[in-house]
Amino acid sequence: MTALSADDIRRSMINCSKGDTKRMTIGDGVLGTDLDAVEFVGWHDPKMPARAYLLTRHDDVLTGVVLRAATGGGNRRTAMCALCRTTYTNGDVSLYAARRAGAAGREGSSVGTYICDDLACPVTTRSEVVPSPTAKVVPDVGLPVDERVAGLRTRVDAFLASVRRDG
Ligand SMILES: [Zn+2]
Repeated sequence: MTALSADDIRRSMINCSKGDTKRMTIGDGVLGTDLDAVEFVGWHDPKMPARAYLLTRHDDVLTGVVLRAATGGGNRRTAMCALCRTTYTNGDVSLYAARRAGAAGREGSSVGTYICDDLACPVTTRSEVVPSPTAKVVPDVGLPVDERVAGLRTRVDAFLASVRRDG
């Protein structure tokens, strides 16, 4: 396991200002995460509830992105998490916007994606049971866990690549 430090995490953020990285809250649970064992760690900022973070090792480099929950429209409808592919019938999946890195982001370009509100996709992906009473479909049940995990890894990397792409 490679230990994470708060400084490493702040330096890894690719789509926000230095001020944003200073203001972010990083809990002990995040610092204790073994990123060799899970595809990412995600958490909500307790001081800014509409803000969440996703931290992963992307192309072997610790990489973090800020996510902003899209407002309006509510989330009381059926939606599928784009990362772990769990479908919920009554919320629990929200649309998040990630500002793109670099110049594109400064000009207002962002990537929108549906992600589980609990940001626990690595856990859900390994689960053999329905993760929540409102979950309609547990993704890829019947596939071996390693194949489900490989799919999650691929989708997380594709998401990070789309945020990082400049121009
Ligand atoms: Zn998910």
